Amino acid sequence: MDELLPRPKSVYLPAPVRAREQAPAAHRRLTLPQWRSGLTLPNFLERRTKAGPAIFLTLALAVSSTAVLTHLYSPCVQVSVDGVDMGLIQSQAMVEAAVDRVEARASRILGYDYVLEQNISYQPRLALREEQATTANLETYLFDQIGEVMQTSMLTVNGQSLGAVDDADALSALLDSILQRYQNEHTISAVFVESVTVNRQYSPTADLRELSEIEEVLNSNSLEQVDYIVQSGDTFSGIAYKLDMSMSELKALNPDVDIDWLHIGDVLTVSQAVPFLSVRTVDNLTYEGPVEYEVQTVPNDSMYEGDSKVVVPGVEGTAIYNADVIYLNGVEQDRMVNSMDVLTEPVTQVVEVGTKERPRTMATGKFQWPLRGTLTSGYGTRYIFGSYSFHGGIDIAAPYGTIIAAADGGKVIHASNDGTGFGLYVVIDHENGLKSYYCHCSSLLVRVGDRVYKGQSIARVGSTGNSTGNHCHFQVKRNDVTVSPWNYLP
Ligand SMILES: [Zn+2]
Repeated sequence: MDELLPRPKSVYLPAPVRAREQAPAAHRRLTLPQWRSGLTLPNFLERRTKAGPAIFLTLALAVSSTAVLTHLYSPCVQVSVDGVDMGLIQSQAMVEAAVDRVEARASRILGYDYVLEQNISYQPRLALREEQATTANLETYLFDQIGEVMQTSMLTVNGQSLGAVDDADALSALLDSILQRYQNEHTISAVFVESVTVNRQYSPTADLRELSEIEEVLNSNSLEQVDYIVQSGDTFSGIAYKLDMSMSELKALNPDVDIDWLHIGDVLTVSQAVPFLSVRTVDNLTYEGPVEYEVQTVPNDSMYEGDSKVVVPGVEGTAIYNADVIYLNGVEQDRMVNSMDVLTEPVTQVVEVGTKERPRTMATGKFQWPLRGTLTSGYGTRYIFGSYSFHGGIDIAAPYGTIIAAADGGKVIHASNDGTGFGLYVVIDHENGLKSYYCHCSSLLVRVGDRVYKGQSIARVGSTGNSTGNHCHFQVKRNDVTVSPWNYLP
């Protein structure tokens, strides 16, 4: 109840002496050190008056404090109902207004003019505003005196009070209708995710709500960012459509996701209208579905390690499943299979897996850098010697004699200076469609026909042929067509 009432901000001023015992200590900070609890104001003045020669100074201080007090303190009334203390309330008029409200509500519920018979008395007081309460407690007390018929149904969601209504049945019907939204003939349970409680209690008039107001709050949605787990058959555009988002909205929430390459189980961030109250339902479903096939691997010593071949393709079976399917606001979250009756058995897939050791000189399919150095010219069109020309590789400058390594395993198909601008150069055929060129070398460490492994030293950096300094021109051809080395280098 207390949380509902507006609480005055704490003011750091001397506490009123009379009321100090009721006040929480944390809200007080005494700025006048000589004030002690237990002293009433007149008592305080009296003692100081008798205190001795410092009387004038003390009295002056006390008088000025009194001036401050009368300014800070405001008149109010101490209210009691049939002798029961109701605390301090700002004015008698406020109490009378509260009594009117209680009588009006009681009359409406009871169906006749109800008049409170309690004896309410008022004592004028002077107190800080923060000591003065609203009439909420008084109203609740009076309803309690009238009896059970005055109780309301207070709706609380996750500890937050949403308001009280007179009609308990209407409130419970409203909550049921929200739960009903996600139910069908297969639903075996439906609960709110939030903690939703309805308490019968006496509530002050200020907490009373029309059922329509409560309904409006419960039916409101908020747009929230939630996780979406990619499922079989999902596409980026399909997910956007399903969640009523545009492709650009979905992309903006998932900047690092390759939209053409979604995997089952990937987690996307999506925005979704989340209802004020979320409903978790469980449906018991019986349906026909696929049965996954198993995969059996068979070693094959005539194939290289890492290579494999499907010899018997797998075929899915079919079965009748019975499962409990869990939904959150109608969106499937989980599926627990209770039983399955197989209609057709799946066919196990058989895969042969190579066990023969792969020769080191076979291409791995992944290049390494042939040497460390400074990139002095990139791949593509460049401006050189006063005109534009096409540069078929990349130039890596390094000191004379630096070792050049094979970018991948393969067979040396050129190792000489044949008078072209490349000077002394090596070409390796990786026997997977790729060839790599290492040019302008000072010396060669391999000969035509040699098989080399990835990383093997094959030449040294120099400046032979059409070259203006020590560097290695590294070029890649795919099916004998020059391609960008950047597509292959790590
Ligand atoms: Zn070059």
